Amino acid sequence: MDVEATRSIRQAEVGSTKTMLDRVRAKFDLHPERLIADTAYGSGPMLDWLVKRKIAPHIPVIDKAGRTDGTWSRADFEWDAENNQYICPEGEALKQFRRNYSDPNRGPTGKGVAKYQALKHTCLACPSKAKCCPKADARKVTREEHEDARDVARAIRKTRQYKISAKLRKKVEMLFAHLKRILGLGRLRLRGPCGENDEFLLAATAQNLRKLAKIFAAPQQTRKA
Ligand code: SF4
Repeated sequence: MDVEATRSIRQAEVGSTKTMLDRVRAKFDLHPERLIADTAYGSGPMLDWLVKRKIAPHIPVIDKAGRTDGTWSRADFEWDAENNQYICPEGEALKQFRRNYSDPNRGPTGKGVAKYQALKHTCLACPSKAKCCPKADARKVTREEHEDARDVARAIRKTRQYKISAKLRKKVEMLFAHLKRILGLGRLRLRGPCGENDEFLLAATAQNLRKLAKIFAAPQQTRKA
């Protein structure tokens, strides 16, 4: 549907996706139900951008909250949105604040990273402390600004539709391989952003024509006797 040449850095590629989605919408009035992409597109801000536009992110989430030392990671804690708290595997609440602020500006802003903590005396008496926070008196869990959007992407990942999307993604990657190997786009001949854009646009046009030729096979010509 669209082409946008970028430098091969993650932020530029993510930016070009937003440009293409907006452009396709403005030009053809097309609004995708879902976006299938790899982990490079799974940052919080990108997922949030998609969810706000009602585009389901079929994208693996970039998650650095996992732990490698065998202790429980954030994924083991249940998010309780209604009460703005996490619930640990032992059923205890981890709260951001334990008192009500008379000045709401001092309370949670929803921006940046929020920290949630369990009560010290609860953790010290907990039978699972060694599995949860062996080196600290109380367990802390952080929640990033775009965690709600990341949760949407995590929930989608458990669906059957996501498995289908993963297979479809392979098909798109085949197209990129075809661009490089068959259409020779491993190296560009034209220089500068305009030259790159022209080459990509031509290559994508060639691919679309190839696809159309497969869908609408040329009519068989009957020989005259
Ligand atoms: S150590 Fe604290 S946070 Fe961890 S499971 Fe026990 S009570 Fe919950």
